[in-house]
Amino acid sequence: MSLLSIDEARERILSQFNPVKTETLPLAESSNRVLAEDIHAADDLPLFDNSSMDGFAVRAEDLANTEPASPRSLRVVADIPAGTSPTIMLAPGEAARIMTGAHMPAGADAVVPVEDTDFHDRAAGTTAPEAVQIFKPAKIGDNVRPRGMDLHAGDIVLPKGRRLKPQDVGLLAMLGISQVPVYKIPRIALLSSGDELVAVDAPLEKGKIRDSNSYMIAALVENVGAEVIRLGVAKDNFEAVKALFEKAAYLRVDCILSTAGVSVGAFDYVKEVIESNGSMDFWRVNMRPGKPLAFGQYREIPLIGLPGNPVSAFVGFEVFVRPAIERMAGILNGGRPTVRVRCEEEIRSDGRESYLRGEIHEEDGVLVARLTGHQGSGNLHSLVQANALLIIPAGVKCVPAGQEVKAWYL
Ligand code: AMP
Ligand code: MG
Repeated sequence: MSLLSIDEARERILSQFNPVKTETLPLAESSNRVLAEDIHAADDLPLFDNSSMDGFAVRAEDLANTEPASPRSLRVVADIPAGTSPTIMLAPGEAARIMTGAHMPAGADAVVPVEDTDFHDRAAGTTAPEAVQIFKPAKIGDNVRPRGMDLHAGDIVLPKGRRLKPQDVGLLAMLGISQVPVYKIPRIALLSSGDELVAVDAPLEKGKIRDSNSYMIAALVENVGAEVIRLGVAKDNFEAVKALFEKAAYLRVDCILSTAGVSVGAFDYVKEVIESNGSMDFWRVNMRPGKPLAFGQYREIPLIGLPGNPVSAFVGFEVFVRPAIERMAGILNGGRPTVRVRCEEEIRSDGRESYLRGEIHEEDGVLVARLTGHQGSGNLHSLVQANALLIIPAGVKCVPAGQEVKAWYL
């Protein structure tokens, strides 16, 4: 069996995944979905010069020598609530009462907030005064939000491949985009395998363990934004594993994920089942944790067989499955947030590319990391205590205290 680098293995896996089909959704259903096209602005935003304050629209030059001791009186010629379009043109010595967000009148180039006038009374329904005393000077542009200040017509405002955040949905609404082109949600079938596994709510007989992987991996799949189809647990025999793979094929899922049964043990049937109805690549990857990795196609559906040990399964997911699902989902800038951290203590490795459980904290403005708990691949608690995976490159056997390494925030 060949020994592949992580990068080679990931490339070979990713080459077999393509974005799923697209659909168009009403804006109200688009949050968290992945854009299937660039979104261009059809108009400037804001679309018209408008006031950022409740106050008086003025001509700044009228207020040249204004100060609290010598206020300037201006004739109020209009009252402009938000949502209206003024038709007047301010002449010298004139002002218009204006509300936040309202269209600036022609001739005006600044807004004086009510606080800087003798007209503080902003109770709802108050009619505009005939004249207003202004106590402070104004510069051109004061308290005006000019047309196009936020973005211009034709700008790409949201790129294809972006998962829509709440603020993105708000911007789409501002731009009048009521139908949003998105990728469909990839459907991932998930199964565990092992005679030792029992359901989480079943009594534990001697020698048995609970099937924790299916819960953790399902949560990871959902965390990437895909749909999980839980196929349950297959016993360690050919027919049982095959029955679940057949079910996945029948359901026409976009990918099959399994955990365990991919070692070279006497009861590891995943490989045989795949070969009975598809093609199989079976690798050892130069990584730690992470035993053999099964990759192939079952009835033309890509299949990734993760190791059974919970931490190995988690790391295998992060290294291979997350990017594969992201590619299917159409996500262009995915992955965990990556940071560089200083090691608090010496870290030893065995020369394989290693993903160690670590806890990152800040000390004097620097991100510092230490390892958590026992690093054995079955010790899930140490992963729970971690907030990051510290990445030790291939070929490195010792990272001295104080040296920096790359880390993925979890
Ligand atoms: P295997 O790859 O089948 O040799 O399994 C490796 C280790 O992972 C063994 O200790 C299994 O008991 C454990 N394991 C396998 N499947 C699961 C699972 N679904 N949940 C928790 N541990 C598992
Ligand atoms: Mg097993």
